[in-house]
Amino acid sequence: MNNQAEAGVSRAADPACLFCRIVAGEIPAARVHEDDTLIAIRDIAPRAPTHVLFLPREHIVSAAELTRADGSMLGRLFEAAASFARAEGLTDAGYRMVTNVGEWGGQTVGHLHIHLLGGRSMGWPPG
Ligand code: 5GP
Ligand code: ZN
Repeated sequence: MNNQAEAGVSRAADPACLFCRIVAGEIPAARVHEDDTLIAIRDIAPRAPTHVLFLPREHIVSAAELTRADGSMLGRLFEAAASFARAEGLTDAGYRMVTNVGEWGGQTVGHLHIHLLGGRSMGWPPG
């Protein structure tokens, strides 16, 4: 399956989705970046001195739904996260980007997002 039509997955904004509502501006969030593809918001419960979420405007439940047709969007997400990290002075020390998938992956919001965590040393493996 190479595209969402074949996958049969709807990517229309979901009125029940917290991050779709943040994208639409219905729920406030501290935006640190936005463009035609994505927005970046500060996590409401930061787990590191810098904790920002990069999410596509379109509703994609998780990385489990991605196909190669999403390559451009994903490049934009990672580029925005890396650019933000650089601007925050995190690049030399390093930082973590992570996306959780499903219950065992620790995902609590069903709208794809990359966590950018920085400003402290990260343990491995994650819990
Ligand atoms: P997940 O658990 O799905 O990987 O990540 C969801 C993240 O969204 C969590 O780190 C959580 O703190 C954050 N979050 C949940 N609700 C809100 C909210 O209303 N606003 C913001 N900015 N972040 C939220
Ligand atoms: Zn959504």
